Amino acid sequence: MISSGKHLVLMAPPGGGKGTQSRILRELLGVPHLSTGDMLREAGRQGTPLGLEAKALIDKGCFVPDELIIKVISERLDEDDCKEGFILDGFPRTLPQAKALDSLLFEKGRRLDHVIEIQVPDDLIIQRIIGRFSCADCGAMYHDTLKPTKVMGKCDDCGGSNFIRRQDDNWTTVVSRLKTYYSITTPVLPYYEYQGLLTTIDGTGEVDAVAEKLKKIIGI
Ligand code: AMP
Repeated sequence: MISSGKHLVLMAPPGGGKGTQSRILRELLGVPHLSTGDMLREAGRQGTPLGLEAKALIDKGCFVPDELIIKVISERLDEDDCKEGFILDGFPRTLPQAKALDSLLFEKGRRLDHVIEIQVPDDLIIQRIIGRFSCADCGAMYHDTLKPTKVMGKCDDCGGSNFIRRQDDNWTTVVSRLKTYYSITTPVLPYYEYQGLLTTIDGTGEVDAVAEKLKKIIGI
């Protein structure tokens, strides 16, 4: 089994900081950040059959079917940039997805190194999600009150001036996504705990403080 120590899964409720932390780790580890949500939204923007099917489900806060998302991630893991590892954000979200990921990696003679659960209480999740937006050009994440851009209308990271808000970041959908997280995704955690891969951290602190906890677990 090949292991570079860089085959990572971040698990958290929506708005738990997976995307923000993945972007930090991507720079430090030099492996790609694979966000299934981003992949599906991009497919939606391009109007592919997959994207259109996914968009209808995402907007309602529902999961896309396992077979579909497993195929997406299987093809992505075959790409060259994933050879040294990856940071999975938003996958797996169900037990069948977790088992499929193990099989896909096993076929390639690889395995996961760490699964890190980032815990954030529901009230903070809701506060974080209602009001978040991102740079359409580089993906940097912001929030109306918690993390506004330093200069109004200008991305701190790339200077871009196009920002987007997710359609599923509204009160009704967030509550439904949280319920789904607790009923369908958290039951995946014992699967990884049994394999000795799981570490749980408190994700309520500052972004840098949470990143330090992740770095310690990964050993960088
Ligand atoms: P995220 O950006 O991770 O919050 O994902 C946004 C939405 O994409 C989710 O609410 C689901 O509708 C869909 N999605 C992303 N990843 C998965 C997955 N692994 N399984 C099922 N649906 C997913």
